[in-house]
Amino acid sequence: MHECEYSRSMMCLSFCCRFEKGRIYTYIGEVVVSVNPYRAMNIYGRDTIEQYKGRELYEQPPHLFAIADAAYKAMKRRNKDTCIVISGESGAGKTEASKYIMQYIAAITNPSQRAEVERVKNMLLKSNCVLEAFGNAKTNRNDNSSRFGKYMDINFDFKGDPIGGHINNYLLEKVGGSFHSFYQVSEGLTAAVTDAMKVIGFTTEEIQTVYKILATILHLGNLKFGSDGDVTLIENSKLVSILGDLLSTKDENVEKALLYRTVATGRDVIDKQHTHQEASYGRDALAKAIYERLFCWIVGRINDIIEVKNYDVRVHGKNTVIGVLDIYGFEIFQNNSFEQFCINYCNEKLQQLFIQLVLKQEQEEYQREGIPWKHIDYFNNQIIVDLVEQQHKGIFAVLDEACMNVGKVTDEMLLQALNGKLAKHAHYTSRKLSPTDKNLEFDRDFRIRHYAGDVAYSVVGFIDKNKDTLFQDFKRLLYNSSNPVLKAMWPEGKLSITEVTKRPLTAATLFKNSMISLVENLASKEPYYVRCIKPNEVKSPLLFEHERCKHQVEYLGLLENVRVRRAGFANRQIYPRFLQRYKMISEFTWPNHDLPSDKEAVKRLLQGCGFEHDVAYGKTKVFIRTPRTIFSLEEQRAEM
Ligand code: ATP
Ligand code: MG
Repeated sequence: MHECEYSRSMMCLSFCCRFEKGRIYTYIGEVVVSVNPYRAMNIYGRDTIEQYKGRELYEQPPHLFAIADAAYKAMKRRNKDTCIVISGESGAGKTEASKYIMQYIAAITNPSQRAEVERVKNMLLKSNCVLEAFGNAKTNRNDNSSRFGKYMDINFDFKGDPIGGHINNYLLEKVGGSFHSFYQVSEGLTAAVTDAMKVIGFTTEEIQTVYKILATILHLGNLKFGSDGDVTLIENSKLVSILGDLLSTKDENVEKALLYRTVATGRDVIDKQHTHQEASYGRDALAKAIYERLFCWIVGRINDIIEVKNYDVRVHGKNTVIGVLDIYGFEIFQNNSFEQFCINYCNEKLQQLFIQLVLKQEQEEYQREGIPWKHIDYFNNQIIVDLVEQQHKGIFAVLDEACMNVGKVTDEMLLQALNGKLAKHAHYTSRKLSPTDKNLEFDRDFRIRHYAGDVAYSVVGFIDKNKDTLFQDFKRLLYNSSNPVLKAMWPEGKLSITEVTKRPLTAATLFKNSMISLVENLASKEPYYVRCIKPNEVKSPLLFEHERCKHQVEYLGLLENVRVRRAGFANRQIYPRFLQRYKMISEFTWPNHDLPSDKEAVKRLLQGCGFEHDVAYGKTKVFIRTPRTIFSLEEQRAEM
């Protein structure tokens, strides 16, 4: 067996053993791995919170709370902005983890029960519930699947209490554009959610508009087109007047926008009839676009409400931040399309960030502590990030160029262009370039060698999804609504046909830009990682599928995590802290030592235990290479 295979297998075995004992968390260095238990666990209550509050990572069994506490302590003690990056496949438990982290932070802050802080905490927790109602849907992989990536900043004052927050969403149609997801969204909109919206501060008019928009989407799902000769018709015309009412506009405007588009030819402006196919495409694009716009608008409103107000740095001191990122992990399906391509690119970016931050952090700390730096052997995935995002040469650039062309560009032409540009790239191939490759099944596929494994993407649909065009006529229709809330969502509808010259940014470019700024933001913070693993496909609390787990270990890059980590030290503690915790296990240090310094005392203690080979002594801290040493120290301590 290949060495990596073997290591992954061993890793899974240990997750499996722990899972069976109900130990769902495991550490790899400071990364916490979480296996979805698919049952209610009695490990998130008040007593557990107390158990983790203010403690160091290795002092208690692995837990999400320990990571949350570490991020909080770093923020509070050292005035550092920190972030917690949660990743994993659909249904692995990311969103649940992010909620437990939020709850933990809410529980350990504001000891003096200041009313304003309590209000902010309540808003932050409630905003989650509203976002879930609109952004989650039942899929076959997860009953409560998030259809967007979410990054939430929580701001703290100098006392370490929450004073506000900000949410960024990374929307991607993961469900596949089916209206049925909207159904569930609207079914899920219970009186509870409406209450939450009211509490957060949405006005009655806003809430009503939200319902009207959801109803619009449902009705669009039922709208059918027919043909009479060359003429495209709406079959159930009663729906048109319902839509007119919901959108606060005239019925004939709705009908016209659904059946025609206005085009400028030279100086003339004409109404051009849609074909049956164009009309259907337009309808689906409209439903998708108003939903997306609604969601972004809700996020924007929540941000208005939760943003930090009345905070004066001169009076109150530095305002620090903990960011929590709940974002889709690496995906490989039977058929991988544009969405998987974007998701996997996102994971490449996050992996690159991990490498840079962990290595950078380590390097800086070793320098500070006077410990010699040694070269680390790991795969640097920057080459794949470049393959996707590089200007002029990358896959996104080639895709955008294809979409820019006037005239009909097909997905096949895109594939040709990619093959032409990237033929020599070590991480790119296709059937055309490697005709004998048995793993490339289809002519329409190109394959990327990701850090987490090979993925073949079907080029079909790339052009349309990237253009993501909504006919301008729809934008004007919505802008001209007499409902001011709706109107405000569509400012670009203000432009008349002759004024529209600027091409809207493509989906790929928007996504790339949002990833670049996400990574920049994360890079300015001290990171903590949660990697979630889904033990089986059937939501069972009893079943641990070894092969499934091994794949995830691969996609999550856990082996790389270990490699990068192992090259450094798993644990480090300042000398007095170390002594305080372990002094009872050595006769030289218990109850007190008479050595010239704490550093000398720690050396003596570790020599006595036979761990000399596994540690290094810095100026202020002792560095311990493997977790095993820490566990052993903890055991000896417990036996005292
Ligand atoms: P997606 O990418 O589809 O949004 P996700 O990773 O966010 O998926 P969650 O919605 O967090 O997945 O979890 C899926 C389900 O797994 C939850 O609804 C819950 O039933 C169960 N689950 C996850 N984590 C836990 C946990 N810590 N304890 C108990 N059940 C859990
Ligand atoms: Mg989720």
